[in-house]
Amino acid sequence: MAEAPRSVRLVIVGSGPAGLTAALYAARAELKPLVISGVPAGGQLLITTDVENYPGFPEGIQGPELVDRMRRQAERFGAVFVDDNLAKVDFSRRPFRLETGSKGTVLAESVIAATGANARWLDLPSEERLKGHGVSACATCDGFFFKGKALAVVGGGDTAMEEALFLTNFATHITILHRRNAFRASPIMLERARKHPKITFLTDTVLEEVLGTGSVEGLRLRNVGTGATSHLKVGGLFVAIGHVPATDVFRGSLELDHEGYVRVHDETRTSVEGVFAAGDVHDRRYRQAVTAAGAGCRAAIDAERWLAEHEHPATSALAAVSPKVVPAGPRSRAG
Ligand code: NAP
Repeated sequence: MAEAPRSVRLVIVGSGPAGLTAALYAARAELKPLVISGVPAGGQLLITTDVENYPGFPEGIQGPELVDRMRRQAERFGAVFVDDNLAKVDFSRRPFRLETGSKGTVLAESVIAATGANARWLDLPSEERLKGHGVSACATCDGFFFKGKALAVVGGGDTAMEEALFLTNFATHITILHRRNAFRASPIMLERARKHPKITFLTDTVLEEVLGTGSVEGLRLRNVGTGATSHLKVGGLFVAIGHVPATDVFRGSLELDHEGYVRVHDETRTSVEGVFAAGDVHDRRYRQAVTAAGAGCRAAIDAERWLAEHEHPATSALAAVSPKVVPAGPRSRAG
């Protein structure tokens, strides 16, 4: 027989900086949050190398270490993690119903959606065919396999610069392909890439086809100004062209915008009362670890206040255990 669903006051979906900060704040508010982490747990920081712009780490910190620290901090105050994907939600009535892939169903009085975003692809058939055979969207994960090869990175944002710079550890040469002549990348990252002896830029250039049968052997490119096509010999391709919000599981349950981002109003509230959103799942503008963490904090505070006002009778016993839903420490000190 299937296990009875467990009932909690708050489920946080996602375990990037937004979800983990929400978990920390909610745990310190004694909400005993349950975090459905997603697999692999940790969000985009998992595939980030040096994080140099997260305050408090003057020497920088590796992305995976940063999320690991955040998770341990949330666990220290009682957040519970379920390392599984969220498979299905029913937000039509409270308590909300959340089904995980293989670790059972949870009934929740409130939810924070912090599922973040995933890498965007070019959607070329040849890209799809050679994914995992020389085409990748994660230099941190796959760079090691490209030792001694010439590579290309597509994109003109910080991710493209970061990926290219990281790949210099392995590759003989990296060509950054960008469809325009102006860059979204921050000046400091762009400058670093420009100065690197192993990196060159091909601007106003789009990728038409990834060439190769069992592995990447080259690229067919087109100059968008002249229309001229050319071939570039490379042994691998890294696609770094931004992200799409990971909101498929919420489609039909939460209001999403035309690109699939969760629509929020009154700071962190979604179209469903009692469901809040934090981080890249709704933020297409800032998309930083630190802004996601701040968003997680805001969502947890909003959820905590909302629960205090709307607690469902079915879980009021839980509320009786911790009658005063306030943070365990002074909020001003917690940031
Ligand atoms: P982004 O800033 O949105 O840049 C995406 C790039 O891909 C743009 O140059 C865009 O070209 C290009 N692109 C999009 N669709 C394309 C397509 N179909 N074909 C060809 N090119 C395409 O995304 P991001 O680089 O992933 O950065 C996202 C956020 O994370 C930013 O706020 C960034 O600052 C931050 N970030 C920070 C760091 C760091 O500080 N260490 C590292 C990574 C990311 P157009 O410019 O022509 O639109």
